[in-house]
Amino acid sequence: MSKQILVLPGDGIGPEIVAEAVKVLEVANDKYQLGFELSYDELGGAAVDKYGVPLADETLERARAADAILLGAVGGPKWDTIDPAIRPERGLLKIRSQLGLFGNLRPALLYPQLAAASSLKPEIVAGLDILIVRELTGGIYFGQPRESKVLENGERMAYDTLPYSESEIRRIAKVGFDMAMVRGKKLCSVDKANVLASSQLWRAVVEEVAKDYPEVELSHMYVDNAAMQLVRAPKQFDVMVTDNMFGDILSDEASMLTGSIGMLPSASLDANNKGMYEPCHGSAPDIAGKGIANPLATILSVSMMLRYSFAQVEAANAIEQAVSVVLDQGLRTGDIWSEGCQKVGTRE
Ligand code: ATP
Ligand code: MG
Repeated sequence: MSKQILVLPGDGIGPEIVAEAVKVLEVANDKYQLGFELSYDELGGAAVDKYGVPLADETLERARAADAILLGAVGGPKWDTIDPAIRPERGLLKIRSQLGLFGNLRPALLYPQLAAASSLKPEIVAGLDILIVRELTGGIYFGQPRESKVLENGERMAYDTLPYSESEIRRIAKVGFDMAMVRGKKLCSVDKANVLASSQLWRAVVEEVAKDYPEVELSHMYVDNAAMQLVRAPKQFDVMVTDNMFGDILSDEASMLTGSIGMLPSASLDANNKGMYEPCHGSAPDIAGKGIANPLATILSVSMMLRYSFAQVEAANAIEQAVSVVLDQGLRTGDIWSEGCQKVGTRE
């Protein structure tokens, strides 16, 4: 039976990096007889331009019907001044929440060839292999009420709300423990339980879930300490599980341990491992259209798609191996370039 892949190139460097990842996907499709059929639509600014909204209803329906989604990135200066209700990022948040993609996997893995590109000393990052599990459909990015207003005294004020329910925490904690079980059996739950009520519930629920995973060594860490530990001694971590905003920030931080944010893939999964796959980075407007963006995060996201949504382990491994071969050959986009390597563009 054929499998439907919806491709959403998005904005900025999105179309450039997705074009390269699609080539890899098509090679895997042929070689491993995956039976994938690709179709295309728009998300983000490109959708605002085409449909007047960052996620059209028909696009959402296509996404629901697809077996997996490959996304580039959304946003850019062109849409910075539009009505906040139709900002490109709204489309991204909406597709994640409408599809129930609460489990965001962000592996930060150092390819040994890139040790020189890491922001940390080689001895601190050698062999680095961390998985950040980020809650993706709750917390402060979605909490209501939220408001910007002008007070009676004329002062402007704004607030957001950071809600988490027990069930939201439990299901993401389970993803963290399940991942720990197939990796190093070590899970660090990151919160701010010394200050936030939502984090206190988070910690309590994670402790409850831990009872079902006696083999996993669980630790808790405040997010400020976790941010520090990630650059001090990142290899102390195996799997980290954390909320939406902390996970967003910590994974950008972790990316620099691997050489570049252009190396970090991601999977966003629902309860049945249906997923959307995208690089962790954004639309990189500063380099969009120049043909110099690193496509490896998106190509590695294709590998994650094959692994998590289709259990095509051999094909997934082959793509990771191919990335390694390219790095062995000394080919580097600018973001991971170092002395003695050959600088190439996105297509090369
Ligand atoms: P967003 O809000 O969409 O995440 P952002 O403002 O955080 O956007 P990013 O797109 O994440 O910006 O980019 C942050 C920096 O990393 C930019 O300088 C960008 O050029 C660089 N960058 C991001 N992705 C890549 C890539 N694939 N290759 C090279 N550089 C990249
Ligand atoms: Mg960003």
